[in-house]
Amino acid sequence: MSDDGGHLVEDCIFCKIIRGEIPSFKVFEDDQTFAFMDINPINPGHALVIPKFHAENLYATPDEWFGPTMATVRRVATAVDKVVQPEGMNLLQANGPGAKQSVFHLHMHIIPRSADDGATMNWELVPGDMDAIGALAEEIAAAVE
Ligand code: 5GP
Ligand code: ZN
Repeated sequence: MSDDGGHLVEDCIFCKIIRGEIPSFKVFEDDQTFAFMDINPINPGHALVIPKFHAENLYATPDEWFGPTMATVRRVATAVDKVVQPEGMNLLQANGPGAKQSVFHLHMHIIPRSADDGATMNWELVPGDMDAIGALAEEIAAAVE
């Protein structure tokens, strides 16, 4: 018996992360949202926020799930900013393969930036150092207010 209100699906990597079937470095969770570290970080502190509602993209996400998702983005981005102290921060969200969307469960990227980091919109996925990501996840989770 599912306890997700029927909002999640079987065959989705982020639904599996919400259910705990795939491990993640969680930094925050509430009734409607889940935040965790990206394992292919563009920069240290790169985090993702997702609704506990399986919707493929922005267009399919009801307002009652998008609103809380953005509230969690603001909350977690504030914690990432506090811990990582980057020069700046980008929020990013991709819709469709043409926009390089690779996971089809709506997610907001929280990306710490510096002016000379060389990050481009079409970045390649480069696996991060899991010990470093896990250590940052602990600090960020503790900094979420
Ligand atoms: P998209 O390309 O769809 O905008 O972003 C998907 C993001 O999900 C990528 O940055 C990728 O690194 C991340 N990702 C893919 N699979 C996993 C996973 O199993 N765990 C975590 N933590 N992140 C993942
Ligand atoms: Zn999903």
